[in-house]
Amino acid sequence: MITATNLSKRYGKTLALDQVSFTIQAGEAVALWGANGAGKTTTLRCLLGVQGFEGELTVNGLDVRRNGKAARAVVGYVPQEAAFYDLTVLETLHFYARLKKAAAARIPAALEQVQLTGHAAKRVSMLSGGMKQRLALAVALLADPPILVLDEPTANLDVQAQRDFVHAIQSLNQAGKTIVFSSHRLDEVIALGSRVLVLADGRLTLDCQPHELAQKLGLHRWLRIWVAAQHHDDSLRVLNEQGYVFLPNGHSVYVQVNLGAKIAPLRSLEQARIPVEDFDFVDGELLARGDNHD
Ligand code: ATP
Repeated sequence: MITATNLSKRYGKTLALDQVSFTIQAGEAVALWGANGAGKTTTLRCLLGVQGFEGELTVNGLDVRRNGKAARAVVGYVPQEAAFYDLTVLETLHFYARLKKAAAARIPAALEQVQLTGHAAKRVSMLSGGMKQRLALAVALLADPPILVLDEPTANLDVQAQRDFVHAIQSLNQAGKTIVFSSHRLDEVIALGSRVLVLADGRLTLDCQPHELAQKLGLHRWLRIWVAAQHHDDSLRVLNEQGYVFLPNGHSVYVQVNLGAKIAPLRSLEQARIPVEDFDFVDGELLARGDNHD
């Protein structure tokens, strides 16, 4: 569906992308992960055909450089924060349908896909941040493109709005859309991604499953758990059986957890009917310094 071969992009002296190659199959949901300035937005902008680059890039079989207009038509884009005129939701969608030469008959389906049907008559200025972002998604869906590209789409949303948005994208992915999104949030990458591409200083450094990301990048913390003395040995046995890395410490035990599954050991103990008296999170650095919290 998408093939990038030796994709490079230079802004003056900055090499924003350096010989990046990847393939994305139809129906995948691929996350781009990396620090600020790693090259995520630049990669997405190449996919959108809105900037020049070196290397080869095909989208849905179309060469982005030679056939930019046709390639752009198969990609729907959702920015981090869309700006709208102060029209109603419905008027906004009619405006963009005309602009994109999409059939107005698609509007009800697009509203339904983002759960905004009941809000069609509302002015955009009255919408919550989450609703505005879902409206941006509806705009991207107007031409019913097979590919959706999203640049940190939930970065400015509260927790509930993030969940709703991720849920909408999951449904679209299950319905067959190919998704490419950038994110700084591990839980979102795990919830939404079928694969993650890690960029660092413009280079592709890792291509892995989302659940492997935390471990491969060393993104873990320590969960400290207290159980009553009579359950102590049983708790260590359960943690051992479940394959956790753990360090018993006095009346407590430190368990290494991935940032995307911070309370998983608590669930394991609960399932084994071992009561947890208390728990806390400790930075890896703190533990390395040997701080004692008793
Ligand atoms: P962020 O998470 O901050 O959005 P990113 O991973 O998306 O980061 P890019 O925006 O792709 O990173 O930027 C990659 C590099 O290219 C950075 O060093 C950035 O400063 C530089 N860069 C991006 N756009 C431009 C531009 N228009 N002009 C000059 N340099 C740019």
